[in-house]
Amino acid sequence: MKPIFYFIRKIYYFSGNVLIFNFIGMIFIGLLESVGIVLIIPLLSISGILDIGSKEIFVLSWLIDYFQAIPKTQSLSVILSLFVVIIIVQAWFSRHQTILNKKIQEGFVRQLRQETYKNLIQANWKFFLEHRNSDIVKIMTTEIGNVKKGLSLSLEFLSSLVFAVIHIMIAFWLSPKMTVFILFLGILLLLFSRYFVTKSKQFGIEQLELSRIYIAGITDHLNGIKDIKGNTLEVTHVEWLYALCKKVEHNTIEFVKLRSNSQFIYRVVSAVLLAVFVFFLIEMFQSQRAQLILVVVIFSRLWPIVTRIQSSLENLASIIPSFEALLELQDQTIHAQELKDEYYYHAKAFHLKEGLSCQSIYFQYNLNEDVYALKDVNLHIPANDMTAIVGPSGAGKSTLVDILMGLNQAQQGKVFIDGVALSHENLVSLRRSIGYVPQDPFLFNASLRDNLLLIEPTATEEQLWEALAMASALEFVKKLPDGLDTLIGDRGIRISGGERQRIVLARALVRKPAILILDEATSALDTETELKVKETLDRLRGSITMIIIAHRLSTIRSADQVIVLDQGEIIQKGRFTDLVKDKNSTIHQLLGRKMEALPLEKAR
Ligand code: ADP
Ligand code: MG
Repeated sequence: MKPIFYFIRKIYYFSGNVLIFNFIGMIFIGLLESVGIVLIIPLLSISGILDIGSKEIFVLSWLIDYFQAIPKTQSLSVILSLFVVIIIVQAWFSRHQTILNKKIQEGFVRQLRQETYKNLIQANWKFFLEHRNSDIVKIMTTEIGNVKKGLSLSLEFLSSLVFAVIHIMIAFWLSPKMTVFILFLGILLLLFSRYFVTKSKQFGIEQLELSRIYIAGITDHLNGIKDIKGNTLEVTHVEWLYALCKKVEHNTIEFVKLRSNSQFIYRVVSAVLLAVFVFFLIEMFQSQRAQLILVVVIFSRLWPIVTRIQSSLENLASIIPSFEALLELQDQTIHAQELKDEYYYHAKAFHLKEGLSCQSIYFQYNLNEDVYALKDVNLHIPANDMTAIVGPSGAGKSTLVDILMGLNQAQQGKVFIDGVALSHENLVSLRRSIGYVPQDPFLFNASLRDNLLLIEPTATEEQLWEALAMASALEFVKKLPDGLDTLIGDRGIRISGGERQRIVLARALVRKPAILILDEATSALDTETELKVKETLDRLRGSITMIIIAHRLSTIRSADQVIVLDQGEIIQKGRFTDLVKDKNSTIHQLLGRKMEALPLEKAR
């Protein structure tokens, strides 16, 4: 029940007095209903259906006396009008309460979505390394949907509870003995429902896991659809889905069985209890007819509500895993917050004066293993120079760049920007000053123009074309059917890998960054285009600090500094010409083939 209380508390936090107002409304509606029930006695008495004397029902004697003192037509009209008024007022309140409930619920869910998304998007890179996208997508869609359902159940639960408490109180007021007797039976019933509530939660957990596997699987397969088709893996995947669907079906049916069992047993037990109850009531309380009628009416109104409470408890229990998954995501993202909000608003891009440097950086992806992605890395990247990072794949080149950008935090050692240690104070400024082309360039599912403007919203048409020209993308963009307004499909699937690299390069350049980082950004380009891009980079020399991870000899040769990484360690650094002097150097081994056959490096 903890998550439900958590959410009720959160609803209260979000809606404040509105929830209290709503709560008072619930009490009022419950009270009106009870008054309606109590009025039955004077009605029966006046109409002569039952001859109830004022002494018989002590707590209502004044009312019966009052009605008996006035003429029958008059008392009948008064009492029937009262009924009508009660029903109208109650209906009016119910209407308001329904709308209010919905407002609370929708407002809360909106806030929940916004908050979760904001925390998510502002979480650090490590968080995303540790989580599967599909799991996050699922929480943001299905689980939030479930939580919304859970909210309305909780509110319903609350109003049923208020209603039940008021009815029990009224019954107690009318006849304490009878009420205690019935409550005893009721508690017996509730005890037995505990078992089903626990079972329902168990079901919820299983269902959550199954649908997690389902969504993760489908996402994965669609991402790798080309591999599936290319290797004719369709049948394997179809079989996978069939097996999973069977499990889901089985699980759902088991839950329905559980629910129907609980309903069945509940009905049987309540019928037996009810019979026992009526038998004893009639035997024991025959002399108090008025109370008997009222208590029976009250409890007959109460019974379906108790059933509803019991059923919503089971439903809620099956939703609890969704609540918990969402809470866990919130908790994790809050702990993984990279920066406080204010840093995002005030940071400005800067110009690098001296350069970037690393001081004894140690970095592990997995703290439990004794494997270092970077080990004792010391380097200086001078401002406005071109630094090339080379090394075999898996050497830690991308990891190093991630550290320089503050995406990964080193477990030991520090990064300095112009001599100032990288911290949350200057992190956003640093990132705003960087133009970054990752190893696996990504384009948003929007027009080319939108993709470029996203990085630099104030860029003019001219600047966009200029950036495209620098990235050697001018020609092919001009040939696109709608030019800059051409839509690029999911992950830019409708343009080639090399074209995508050039667009992302243009996107990095349109920002006119102080630091340009290219992580194997030209690997998918043909020799000729690569040469053109290289010419652009050469032109930018002296005005931009460039960090280029590359395999091509041509790029490495013209760099001011080459850093050779292997197994997370810097094994050589210096000017290319100095490094190749030593025939046994690693760079020789790395580039050995290429020294003769220039440049034939295959993409990644
Ligand atoms: P490079 O860019 O030089 O090819 P990376 O920096 O990508 O190499 O990777 C360096 C090492 O760190 C590799 O051994 C790789 O397996 C490991 N690694 C990279 N990313 C992760 C990750 N997200 N989780 C765990 N290990 C990783
Ligand atoms: Mg890499």
